[in-house]
Amino acid sequence: MARSAVLMVSGASSGYLPVDFHRDSVMLHFGALSGRWWVPLVFIAVAGHITNVCVTLFLHRAQTHRGVRLHAIAATPMRLWLWLTTAIVTKEWVACHRKHHAFADREGDPHSPVVEGLREILLKGAFYYRKAVRQPGMLEKYGKGTPNDWLERHLLTPLNWIGVLFMLAIDIWLFGFFVGALVWGAQMIWIPLWAAGVINGIGHALGYRNFEVKDESRNISPIAIWLGGEELHNNHHADPKSAKFKARWFELDIGWIYIRALKLVGLAKIEYARNYGSDAGRHDGMAVNAAA
Ligand SMILES: [Zn+2]
Ligand SMILES: [Zn+2]
Repeated sequence: MARSAVLMVSGASSGYLPVDFHRDSVMLHFGALSGRWWVPLVFIAVAGHITNVCVTLFLHRAQTHRGVRLHAIAATPMRLWLWLTTAIVTKEWVACHRKHHAFADREGDPHSPVVEGLREILLKGAFYYRKAVRQPGMLEKYGKGTPNDWLERHLLTPLNWIGVLFMLAIDIWLFGFFVGALVWGAQMIWIPLWAAGVINGIGHALGYRNFEVKDESRNISPIAIWLGGEELHNNHHADPKSAKFKARWFELDIGWIYIRALKLVGLAKIEYARNYGSDAGRHDGMAVNAAA
């Protein structure tokens, strides 16, 4: 358990303050966070949410659809965090996702529960992703415009698998060998489960619809926090370029809140955000259908 510096205050009568300050004791040491059972769980949840936010803001809304442009000061930490926690290569993710929009729920969609079955996508989403990005010509056709700077060419793309090993070392350092390995395992299945499984699976099978788009996309939940706003998947398919996924007054898109916060401090430029007004159905003349 982390020990804190000790400040011992003597009685007022003695007239001095002996300070016992162990400099080394305020630093993190091996297994520093392994003391309380709930700390690893909080760590997984917070780290996981940060990963989800990096996926939706950087990979999805900025790189794939160009609805928002992120300043390097915002984008670089996101890219490094994704490198540490997911091993995703930006060009591959972008290509796979653009193809998903081009063929949503038809033959050619890399991960459609309508085509493959919900169980398949939920359990094997990551497998379908890998299969898609390996197809010849895929990256050239759908992956245009992703970063090609020094960081990308020398580290993030060629050494994409090093990041997760680095994360394993960090987890073991923080939580010890056993708990550290478990925390790392949870981080490694995070994106295959939540993004490849839940968004691509549930988001095209279960939930409500604001827009009668051609595909089967659904909003999983009107309050979209956990997955960074990606829960509003039907709204997103109705207008993919929009950096804002919220479409109706009762919906909350936390990713959009983060984007506005970044814009406030000059780290994001919004290229396009559709203004739905107070009610998507009324303003867009599209059927509001609360399909199950
Ligand atoms: Zn989709
Ligand atoms: Zn998209």
